[in-house]
Amino acid sequence: MAFCVLALVLIGAPGTAEAARITAVSASGQGADAQVTVELDGPFDAPRLFYLDKSPRIVIDFPGVSVSGAKPSGSGGPVKSVRLGQNTPQLGRLVIDLNSDAVAVVDAAGVPGRHALRLQVKATDRAGFVAALRQGSRSLALAAAPVQAAAAEAAPATQTAAAAPAPVPQAPAAPALAPAAPVAPTALPIVVIDAGHGGQDPGAPSILKGKWEKEVTLAIAKAIKAELDRSGKVKAVLTRSTDIFIPLGRRVEIAREAGANLFISIHADSIARPDVHGATVYTLSEKASDKEAERLAAKENKADIIAGINLGAESPDVTDILIDLVQRETMNLSAEFAGIVVREVGKHRYFHSNNHRFAGFRVLKAPDVPSVLLETGYMSNEGDSKYLFSKAGQATIAKGVRAAVEAYFQRTMAQTASIAGAS
Ligand code: ZN
Repeated sequence: MAFCVLALVLIGAPGTAEAARITAVSASGQGADAQVTVELDGPFDAPRLFYLDKSPRIVIDFPGVSVSGAKPSGSGGPVKSVRLGQNTPQLGRLVIDLNSDAVAVVDAAGVPGRHALRLQVKATDRAGFVAALRQGSRSLALAAAPVQAAAAEAAPATQTAAAAPAPVPQAPAAPALAPAAPVAPTALPIVVIDAGHGGQDPGAPSILKGKWEKEVTLAIAKAIKAELDRSGKVKAVLTRSTDIFIPLGRRVEIAREAGANLFISIHADSIARPDVHGATVYTLSEKASDKEAERLAAKENKADIIAGINLGAESPDVTDILIDLVQRETMNLSAEFAGIVVREVGKHRYFHSNNHRFAGFRVLKAPDVPSVLLETGYMSNEGDSKYLFSKAGQATIAKGVRAAVEAYFQRTMAQTASIAGAS
């Protein structure tokens, strides 16, 4: 039992795993079902799973894992073959080539006594596969701790098991969970709040003398983060929490690095007519987005354009399809969230009749993160300015955004569950 005790202790500190090695990969199956088992020689961090089309396949990336020496074997059912590759020195990759469209779910039972990942691969129809494909890359919740081999284990084993984290059961919704439409059952969705402007870029001047947009955006972003933290249903991350300048591209990077499920950029507009007031929410337009997709696809270095997917490893046409699919889905989700923002924030805050607009804001161009830009009002309007600079105004907007965020994730998770149920 000494081995098990040690292993469980190591598992108890997630993220600290030494470089584990994949020692064996085996596949078997028949009919519509197959099973793929990956065994490792030590604890490992949560792998990421995504799907690729053309010749359909399932890809699982193991961060910090080496694949040297293991010889994958077996096939059956929807699984044509299994392959291993060292994608980067820090990333071991398992590819499951498919005979036909299929989706994978983690078998929560794991492999008794072993560090392992076991997947159930189930045939699905075209719609089910495309739905899973569109969801992009997602983190797999693991039954990572070696499961106790048998009920007949000695007493100390029972104690150890009780002290160790229990294997996390995978939600039935597994095939379609994603960064774009969350969420692993163990992880909170991540919402990145971006306070527009900052530092040497003050944004728009307020009609109230000496005040600037960058102050309002930071105050509102902080109020939103505090409100979201109170909700406990998401994890909120700020792109800036002080008066500093951050380039637009860097803001998108911060969102991607944080693993954002949602990105909200906060601004306040300005216009020559002081009577114009009210809020507006923006998302990317179809047109601008398609151009962005073209530009992205044309870029020579395609690695890491989409979180967790090394596009550089795929042929160009697959890349195009992927960016297109991911960005379309992202745009749909962005528009959906924008509508909820208008509804929820609009309960207490005046929105223009033309309240949801589409434009090519660069800060919204993360292809895999649903993103909106909220113009909270007009610096050039006295009423708006006073409202936006007031604690009460900031708190009211923050409450509205919290309600919108909660409604959005409730809805997308319900959709995810229904997709999974249908496949
Ligand atoms: Zn602005």
